[in-house]
Amino acid sequence: MHRRLIAPGALAAASLMLAIPASAASFSPGAPGIGDPYYPAYGNGGYDVSHYDLRLQYQPSTDELAGTATILARTTQDLSSFDLDFLLDVSEVRVNGVKASFASSGQHELVVTPKTPLAKGTAVTVVVRYSGVPSSKSAYGFNAWHRTPDGAVAADEPEAAWWWFPSNDHPLDKATYDVSVAVPDGTQVISNGLLQSTSSRLGWTRYNWRENKPQATYLATLAVGKFDITTSTSEGGVPIVNAYSKDLGDNDGAARASVERTGELVDWLSGYFGPYPFASAGGYVPNTTTGYALETQTRVYYSPRQFANGANTSVVVHELAHQWYGDSVSLKGWKDIWINEGFARYAQWLWSEHEGEGTAQELADYVYASHPADDAFWTVEPGDPGPDNQFDIAVYDRGALAVQALRNAVGDDTFFAILKGWPREHAYGNASVADFEAYAEQVSGKSLGSLFDAWLFQPSKPAAAAVKAAAVKAAAVAPVQPKSWKKIEATNDVR
Ligand SMILES: [Zn+2]
Repeated sequence: MHRRLIAPGALAAASLMLAIPASAASFSPGAPGIGDPYYPAYGNGGYDVSHYDLRLQYQPSTDELAGTATILARTTQDLSSFDLDFLLDVSEVRVNGVKASFASSGQHELVVTPKTPLAKGTAVTVVVRYSGVPSSKSAYGFNAWHRTPDGAVAADEPEAAWWWFPSNDHPLDKATYDVSVAVPDGTQVISNGLLQSTSSRLGWTRYNWRENKPQATYLATLAVGKFDITTSTSEGGVPIVNAYSKDLGDNDGAARASVERTGELVDWLSGYFGPYPFASAGGYVPNTTTGYALETQTRVYYSPRQFANGANTSVVVHELAHQWYGDSVSLKGWKDIWINEGFARYAQWLWSEHEGEGTAQELADYVYASHPADDAFWTVEPGDPGPDNQFDIAVYDRGALAVQALRNAVGDDTFFAILKGWPREHAYGNASVADFEAYAEQVSGKSLGSLFDAWLFQPSKPAAAAVKAAAVKAAAVAPVQPKSWKKIEATNDVR
């Protein structure tokens, strides 16, 4: 009876479909990007990774890295082929045990074509054998593999994985990790999570690290070199693992005086953000010449330059705040960078408040008054800064100003409930600026659209009067520099 309603053309098409196996018609290549408007080629479509098992060997003297990545994933569409993001030289790829064909494409794509197409919802094990000299590979003229006098470091944002393991390189696809790397005896390997074991054989020592909570690819880190590793447990019960290059020279004391406070600062931040989300915390300071710090999950990367002027607890607070705001709760797209940086910078303001070196309000007033209305600072919209301004200082300072504006609009009790509730609401997941706005409105029961619009989405200086409850003092007030300002300013190149 229903057939009569179908147009003749559609009937013909339906008959044709029957002639071809229905399955074959629907298989198509996975997209070469996951769909991030800032970085269209980053990540990939068609599958979701649950675990990376990396078994590698690295020779510091030649910068040769070789090994096998075993990737556990599940297809999210009928796939004829799929991409991995990777730069090193691949010798073999197997999909569910069967050799697959593969080819390089674009700047950093490895296109894998399995012998038989993969139906949607299939569990897939991809084994990639590879080798190469990471420092010799670049994409977009960029190389995130930083060699040191005694090893190398992979830590960068938004891309770092391409130089050491094949991946679906976007925060939307988080996974757990086993990172096992053999290095010459006397050399150490630092990575995320906890060291499970080490073993020695024929002049090589193998380090087996495990991160058992979902982790974004850019937060996976690897450092090889001669390190002094310290372990302890915070008063709140968080295992702490820190590592210092034995080659930090004059910066050694200040680095340790800062990073050894990780346990105390994790416990302090837990008071604002809720229980620490991971099985360990810590940081490492390699002997690199790159200047920044990065919130690599559980094991923060610090450049020795962060400690060139003495101890710097502000940078430690910033990167540890990211463990909640950025690592456990990851952004959905790179345009959502404010939910990482606005809050990590605000944590530095809270630390200043705690240390009696200026309240968050005083810091907000200072930032607001220091930048006149025609300052380019105000043209950057922290809520959607564009890829070129993703790490602009305005994302941090104007971003933290937006957080203070929220605090003033909803009051301290509600504000701190939001600050603590958000990491619980989206633990180990992904969220956007819009999700944060919705959450803040839900918790506060207030309409906050105009507030967020003024502070995050306008290319101009918000008028203090335009925001309910004066978020800042009148612009006519001369800026008073809080005591902590220079310390916070010294962290302006952190991520
Ligand atoms: Zn940051």
